[in-house]
Amino acid sequence: MTLADADAIARCLACRAPLWAGEIQAGRWACYRCEDRAREQLAAICGMFKRLDTLDGHTKPQNAVCGPTGTREAPTPVRLAVLAQTGPGGVVQQLQSGIEDSWRKTLGWKPGPTRHHADIDGATTFLTNNLLWACERYPDIADDLQTIHHIHTTLKNLETGERSPKKFTAYCRGVDCDGQMRITLYTGHATCPACGTDYDKNDLAGLATEYDDHEATAA
Ligand SMILES: [Zn+2]
Ligand SMILES: [Zn+2]
Repeated sequence: MTLADADAIARCLACRAPLWAGEIQAGRWACYRCEDRAREQLAAICGMFKRLDTLDGHTKPQNAVCGPTGTREAPTPVRLAVLAQTGPGGVVQQLQSGIEDSWRKTLGWKPGPTRHHADIDGATTFLTNNLLWACERYPDIADDLQTIHHIHTTLKNLETGERSPKKFTAYCRGVDCDGQMRITLYTGHATCPACGTDYDKNDLAGLATEYDDHEATAA
């Protein structure tokens, strides 16, 4: 077997950690830890997908708030980003055409019918059920684990983005102080990291602020 070259250390193709004796014996390409992580990520992907899908389908953009700078929160880009993942061409297709189809081919199975773009259960169940095989026998497993990791991160960012209030940078008004504090509309108290001045909610509302909109496009 190619993995256990006499002088080369056999490593997990995904995380590059040296493989344990048992893993080498099993002829694995990816280590148990990477397999476990992918399994957890697939389960999480399934849950997040469903929450985002519901959110997208059944809630109106209701939390348009006026910030200290008067900027209105625009829900549209986030909704579009969610749709890009839960709609046609989204996560389900990425999992199927990007991973499942190749696994089936390698296993000598016929291609499965194209999944509906909301069939996240089907897509993740297939991969979970065959993950052990892939980590042991599928030489391109590292790319697929990377894809799963990437999708997991994307959905997580979307989900947190939906929930966490917009952030602002507030500028300390201390004389000659250029301290900055990251706050949201709900921050009740903040301390300037530069001069130590304490601000309560009312004080914060009176500070000059700037809208941090760079994270609106996190995807
Ligand atoms: Zn690994
Ligand atoms: Zn300060």
